[in-house]
Amino acid sequence: MPACARCGGRICKGETTCFNCQMPVVDVKSSRELALERFRLVLNILFYLFLGLTIASLFIDIGAKTAMCGAATFVLRLVRMSATEMSESKS
Ligand SMILES: [Zn+2]
Repeated sequence: MPACARCGGRICKGETTCFNCQMPVVDVKSSRELALERFRLVLNILFYLFLGLTIASLFIDIGAKTAMCGAATFVLRLVRMSATEMSESKS
């Protein structure tokens, strides 16, 4: 539960100002936003991992098919883009 920076009062979900002192809520991240951020970080890591695998599989035999890696990279890119849109549309 986020708390007001000035009076320490509890701030309900969706509130933009404190109920007690009317101070605007700033820099308070909900657990959903934090989860989304972590999700995007994981997606980023996976994306670059698969991108590297795709490129590597073109030149060396790493036991994975280039098309499969390419497809995974493409899907990850799409998910990453929608995750970015989700977090940007909120602010
Ligand atoms: Zn307050």
